[in-house]
Amino acid sequence: ALDHIGRIVLVNRAAEVIFGRVQEEVKTKYLIELVRDSELDELVSRVLVGGQPGSIELVKDRSIVLNQISPIFADNGRTRGAVIVSHDVTDLRRLEQMRTDFVGNVSHELRTPLTSIKGFVETLLDGAAEIPSLRSKFLHIIQTETLRLQSLIEDLLTLSRLENKDKRVESTAKLSLVQKAFEKIKPVIEPYAEARALKLQIELPEDLPAVLMGTDLLSQILLNLLENAVKYTSEGLVWLTGTVKEDKVVLEFGDTGCGIPKEDLPRIFERFYRVDKARSREQGGTGLGLSIVKHIIEDSGGVISVKSKVGEGTVFICELP
Ligand code: ADP
Repeated sequence: ALDHIGRIVLVNRAAEVIFGRVQEEVKTKYLIELVRDSELDELVSRVLVGGQPGSIELVKDRSIVLNQISPIFADNGRTRGAVIVSHDVTDLRRLEQMRTDFVGNVSHELRTPLTSIKGFVETLLDGAAEIPSLRSKFLHIIQTETLRLQSLIEDLLTLSRLENKDKRVESTAKLSLVQKAFEKIKPVIEPYAEARALKLQIELPEDLPAVLMGTDLLSQILLNLLENAVKYTSEGLVWLTGTVKEDKVVLEFGDTGCGIPKEDLPRIFERFYRVDKARSREQGGTGLGLSIVKHIIEDSGGVISVKSKVGEGTVFICELP
């Protein structure tokens, strides 16, 4: 709170924390002593003179603070002072930025296959449909792009379901066996590994305890991580082992594939982050698989980590309650 010429009358505890100064130091001093910002200072002068409220956002170190300034009037209608309410809006602004980035990314990812489909349909209509070899080639491209759109939309729906669900009910309600979850995806993953001439080695001991999540979610983790292992491995081995460490079930997903460069490792769990965009697209990747896996694991109280060496391979380690 400020008096009619902008001297500090009162600073509450929260403001002391936000601005890093205590009331005793700044009381009766001018505002600029507390917040060293000339824009805020000018705005406050205008509020005190004009009697109209105002607001301003300031960036201080890494935080963003929204300051709302309201005049206080005396009985005779003159401004007697002003109150500044400061909100730390750093998290809010960061979330807004993430949402904007996400919408931008989704639009871009949807537009790429659509542009391609549109182009090939036009070429077919322009006469390429009469030439059997071209017709078949272009229809296959259209089919691939359509499947990509479908997986993208399925992944987006999975993410949105994960975010909307009542987590407390979900995570305590179910126990699932890893072997059982694997049986569900076996018909997909075995032929995939076989088609790429990779050895698939699954080592899940009979007495591996159940983990605390629904079978569908557990299957989704196994599928995404094993599919990636196969997708990014051109020869050798893909494996899954299950062990127990203290009160956790530890699942290791390994491969002898291309590996992930050290500088990319911290970012691979971000939505749409891919090390090699062209390769991921070519293999039908959406860039969402790992963010879905991380989401599911953290919802259940588990953790996921990754070790990798370029040219040697990658191991994802999941510790599940
Ligand atoms: P994508 O659909 O592109 O596979 P993911 O979210 O599943 O998306 O993975 C993100 C990126 O992490 C991939 O594009 C790839 O660059 C890298 N990646 C994931 N798993 C592996 C792996 N087993 N080996 C090498 N790179 C991997």
